[in-house]
Amino acid sequence: MADEATRAFLAEVRAFTREVVAPAAPGWARGASPDPTLLARAGAIGLTAVEVPPAFGGLGLSFRAKVEACAILAAVDFGLAMALVNTHNVAKRIVLSAPPDLARALLPDLLAGRASACTALTEPGAGSDAAAMQCRAEKTSTGWMLDGEKRWIVNARHARHAIVYAQTGQPGQGAGIAAFLVDLTDPAVTRYPVESVIPQASIGTGGFRLDHCLVPDERLLLPAGTAFKAILEEINGARIYVAAMCCAMVSAGLRIVQAYGGTRRSFGKPLDEHAVWREKPAACATALAAAWALVESAVSAIEAGGDVRHLAAAAKVNAVALAQRELPALMHAMGAEGLREIHPFARHVGAAQLAALTDGSTAMLLDRLGRWDPTPINL
Ligand SMILES: Cc1cc2nc3c(=O)[nH]c(=O)nc-3n(C[C@H](O)[C@H](O)[C@H](O)COP(=O)(O)OP(=O)(O)OC[C@H]3O[C@@H](n4cnc5c(N)ncnc54)[C@H](O)[C@@H]3O)c2cc1C
Repeated sequence: MADEATRAFLAEVRAFTREVVAPAAPGWARGASPDPTLLARAGAIGLTAVEVPPAFGGLGLSFRAKVEACAILAAVDFGLAMALVNTHNVAKRIVLSAPPDLARALLPDLLAGRASACTALTEPGAGSDAAAMQCRAEKTSTGWMLDGEKRWIVNARHARHAIVYAQTGQPGQGAGIAAFLVDLTDPAVTRYPVESVIPQASIGTGGFRLDHCLVPDERLLLPAGTAFKAILEEINGARIYVAAMCCAMVSAGLRIVQAYGGTRRSFGKPLDEHAVWREKPAACATALAAAWALVESAVSAIEAGGDVRHLAAAAKVNAVALAQRELPALMHAMGAEGLREIHPFARHVGAAQLAALTDGSTAMLLDRLGRWDPTPINL
């Protein structure tokens, strides 16, 4: 049962999504950039401060509250949900790993939505095999010199801060990877947007090159030997909220289909009085219930402090596959009406493809799950 603070926060997220995100999302799908005041409006209701402790100006709410906020946003726009949670996660990491004075200097802008942030592992030559990254960090007398390129990074179009993962040891050596907090307004950084046929405007996808970028010692957030392990643990949480976001996109589509089925008439009666038409939403609702239950199991496992690697991976693989399969079918169940821009189907179909790659691609997660036995009872 959520506490009063969580209930109030989620009510604000619902109102923000309904009043601010929903009217703008179709424009973002056509490539329009989000209004520059949007991030500050999100910050004003705490969307970049959810899990940040109150001592640092955050809301101090739970992981579950973050998952629910992500789902509410993603039911309308997956991209914006990803953009906000990525800024949030950097704020949270700064609290955990930056020197307190640096944290206190940087957090106010991140929490108020005056600055965005990103986490950068992926490179032009290294995606799934992140340990193969080429970005290098060399020790200098006052800090670290970073050289390399990051690409396909949420928020990189506008982020002020990036947590950049770079190799301090031999290429391919996971234990040599460290994480640095880089100021992306540094002149040694050149950034660029990443475009695709699936809109990237609200998710803010981009890349940047680091050309002799000097990073002071205090900005080494995670030293070699700890960084790779820390990001792999953090990604378990990300897989769970991405799974919830995929479920939320399907929930949004299913509700529209069910409402339309009660009003659209065909052969003298509403669509939902045709047994064959009802089969599709019925099958979708059944699979959706199972997907939400898997997300709930994963969230509960996080709350219990258990090992969530498999549950998080399974929740994401399942929810992504559900969204990839069900969203086109739901769109079809609407007839031509499903193609109209006022409905989110086409945007969510594209977003499901993005979800299949972020925070661990489906193929990589399946590789892990092949050795998992989820049987819950003693047979
Ligand atoms: C919208 C979006 C936002 C993103 N945001 C971020 C971000 O904020 N930060 C960040 O660091 N990265 C981000 N990424 C990058 C994402 O993590 C990578 O796309 C993902 O890790 C896959 O890497 P790749 O695209 O280079 O594919 P590749 O690694 O080149 O793989 C290509 C295909 O082969 C499959 N494959 C690869 N290796 C194997 C194998 N051993 N066995 C079987 N199949 C395999 C993959 O699943 C994939 O289908 C984002 C990506 C997208 C699309």
